[in-house]
Amino acid sequence: MTCSQVHGARVIEAETAPSWPLREPADGLLVSPGGPVIGLRYGDCAPVIVLALGDDSWLLLLHSGFKGTLANIVASGMAAAREKHGPTVPRDLYAWVGPCISGTCYTRRMDDPSTIEAMKRFSHEAITPGKEFAHIDLKRQIALQLAECGVPEKHIWLESQCTCCGTDLFCSHRRSTPDDDPRMLLTVRSRIPQSSPNR
Ligand SMILES: [Zn+2]
Repeated sequence: MTCSQVHGARVIEAETAPSWPLREPADGLLVSPGGPVIGLRYGDCAPVIVLALGDDSWLLLLHSGFKGTLANIVASGMAAAREKHGPTVPRDLYAWVGPCISGTCYTRRMDDPSTIEAMKRFSHEAITPGKEFAHIDLKRQIALQLAECGVPEKHIWLESQCTCCGTDLFCSHRRSTPDDDPRMLLTVRSRIPQSSPNR
């Protein structure tokens, strides 16, 4: 199942959400082992996966582009997961931030109201103001949000590649044309762990 992505911070439960082709407006999915196969589409925005191991395990799949990061969808997703599953211990939390537009490719106009808002909310490590354009480091800001939500820094993996340049592996909205603006689909299937006789 998937959702109708709107660059917001709403996260829904995959088990109770309507199945494809119905789609609720949301940008994140929470799923338990054995739940439905979930998927979201990306084209420069960052895919984020948060995994909680332990007895009551869960997985979050998030679509965190500039707007979603500004709205802190990571915090919304973590709150939704904790509301459903209870508190988590940091040692059980792991996160991955996938390929997104990065490095010198990602600039936004300084006079854009959402850039001005990001200057207030983002860490100085994640936004570098310039004369006309600000450089945005989405992965850095998302990593800081994950850490604020209790994911240990050494459990956060940041993908180094940029979707916009250097490779034709990825779809990129910035690199697209009006006639050719495809997306990448990230799907997750979480199975119930097989119990081992040795445990
Ligand atoms: Zn690039």
